[in-house]
Amino acid sequence: MGLTRVLLIAVVVWLVFVFIRRQLGKTRRPPGQAQVKLVRCARCGVYLPESETKPDAHQARICAHH
Ligand SMILES: [Zn+2]
Repeated sequence: MGLTRVLLIAVVVWLVFVFIRRQLGKTRRPPGQAQVKLVRCARCGVYLPESETKPDAHQARICAHH
């Protein structure tokens, strides 16, 4: 009876510990977003990932569809 209770408490403490560590990891490092570099289009002023832009005649970054 006593051992079951200790095990139950241990499992609950472990779950809380894992949950807190996961929450801390989320706030510290948002997945995927830190690596995307946003650049501003020189023509229309929209921010978009650098991979979706191209250089214009003056070496400024513009949307790929211009
Ligand atoms: Zn643009």
